[in-house]
Amino acid sequence: IDKFYKNNVLCISDKEKQRLVDNMMQQLILTKEKTEKVAETFMNELNSALAEEASSLQMENTYIPELPNGTEEGRFLALDLGGTNFRAILLHFHKGNVIHEQVKRYVIADELRIGSGEKLFDYLAECLVDFVAENNLEDVPLPLGFTFSFPMRQHSLNSSSLVCWTKTFNCPDVVNKDIVKLLEHSLAKYGHNHIEVLVIMNDTTGTLIEGARMDSRTRIGIVLGTGSNACYVERADRVHHWEQERHNEEQVIIDMEWGALGDNGSLDFIKTEFDRDLDLRSLLATSFTFEKYMSGNYLGELVRIVLEKLWMNKLFLKKAPPEFFPPERTFTSDLISRIEQDTVDGKQNRIKQILKDLGYQDDHYDADDLAIIQFASSLISYRAAKLVAICTAALLNHMDENDITIAIDGSLYKFHPRMKSWLEDIIEERAPGKTFRLILAMDGSGKGAGLATAIASRLKALKVK
Ligand code: BGC
Repeated sequence: IDKFYKNNVLCISDKEKQRLVDNMMQQLILTKEKTEKVAETFMNELNSALAEEASSLQMENTYIPELPNGTEEGRFLALDLGGTNFRAILLHFHKGNVIHEQVKRYVIADELRIGSGEKLFDYLAECLVDFVAENNLEDVPLPLGFTFSFPMRQHSLNSSSLVCWTKTFNCPDVVNKDIVKLLEHSLAKYGHNHIEVLVIMNDTTGTLIEGARMDSRTRIGIVLGTGSNACYVERADRVHHWEQERHNEEQVIIDMEWGALGDNGSLDFIKTEFDRDLDLRSLLATSFTFEKYMSGNYLGELVRIVLEKLWMNKLFLKKAPPEFFPPERTFTSDLISRIEQDTVDGKQNRIKQILKDLGYQDDHYDADDLAIIQFASSLISYRAAKLVAICTAALLNHMDENDITIAIDGSLYKFHPRMKSWLEDIIEERAPGKTFRLILAMDGSGKGAGLATAIASRLKALKVK
């Protein structure tokens, strides 16, 4: 059993209660046997997908065969859709570095996230038109890179259709449609035909590309945010799926879409009653199994569901009035990062503040309740880190290079105080022959889209020659 499980023991005054809580939480522990089985499942699914056999991993060809090489020049537009906000970005590169950046965030109302596709894309176009006007770019022909962070079937660098929605979006009529065409169609309504979409990709690809700008050894990009996913640079001869003519590519970025790992039942052996409950109550039930174990959109809710179960069994917050118990989806993952910070600091100020914000008074809870909150948050956070690390280590072992930098972005990675060190420790243990480091590729989804557009312009110019 891991050092973490040995050290992270629940210690409360009521020993019978401790035994009952422990019993209920056992299922969240990833034993050695389960750990090995997750690694094995991941590799089986990865190899099947590369061979174009049935798999829950999509392993999509992005058609991006190159990383930045320091020659990227010029101005590019980038759009970023997938997390909390929609962003429009203007990036100016000189010798591969960003010398000027203009960003504007637009809020996407809930009814647009789960409404008709046309309304959503008209709104995106409206935002872009606003951004272009604000920056006096109305008549300037600008290449654009669109970071669209959902599973896509990619047909070429700038054409891809949506496979399914994830996270907080669900506009069913967009499924199977070409995303670039939808955007262009909406832009045309505003008379904007001068914007050319050169690349469509997702945030992990952006993170990998921005990481490669920062450190040329970068070969893996990971996002641990609202959703989670990874991509990596694969040998082109191992990739069977090419919808466009090949041009002697030696390598290509593969978007794994690891959030869907286990959608075929292959990860059911780690599924707990809490995971099943979370899935049933989620916006997109029965999909994105792996993502529901570990991404920011679900981690807080998972802790809440565990606490709810303990509460219903009278093992938690027994003295408190029931009306304060947080309703579904109100216990967000940023709270988990705050609770974990308390655990790291050996304090409980933040937990008490969280309880206060929920309406609880000091005499509604006791020391055992606080310890249970910390225990549940740690156990669920560690399981998330461990799952990510098992797959990352397996990926490192699969790759030919020995010295690899892994670029990561996303709120769960940035704000969870123990995520980075857990990942490092577990990856090191599971990929013993490899040298690796984790770097934060801050805003990889935005900057990476700009860089990818610069690369696409370079490739286009080469083809014209
Ligand atoms: C999406 C991926 C994305 C990830 C992180 C997942 O839900 O399917 O395309 O990279 O979230 O944003």
